[in-house]
Amino acid sequence: MSDFLDKMLVSINKGVNTVSEGSKNILEKAKLNTRLKELDSEKAQLFQNLGVLAYKLQSGGQINVEEFDLACGNIAAAEAEAARIEEDIKKLERPEPQPEPQPDGVACSCGYVNKVGSKFCAGCGRKLI
Ligand SMILES: [Zn+2]
Repeated sequence: MSDFLDKMLVSINKGVNTVSEGSKNILEKAKLNTRLKELDSEKAQLFQNLGVLAYKLQSGGQINVEEFDLACGNIAAAEAEAARIEEDIKKLERPEPQPEPQPDGVACSCGYVNKVGSKFCAGCGRKLI
């Protein structure tokens, strides 16, 4: 049983190690989106708790002020985390900077890039085709 799990973990780790930069971003984004969804349901639960407290208060029951503060604080913390995650997702979605455009020219086998129309290489003197 644990042997099977070990093997599975090894293959998962291998898979993660071989992904390219681009798919790493996709994985990262998927993770962040999953966390956002988790936060949404956590928030729903927290609001529900707060609602129970508010109902108790409205119907004349005694509520603990600290409990109320804690419930509000938890919601604020969840919302702050969601905002950070949304910011991270935006960063991941920003397009990669484009590489510098290569100057137009005739590349020689020596590596020198000559002006278009050159007959001979200015780097090594070989005749250009
Ligand atoms: Zn050359």
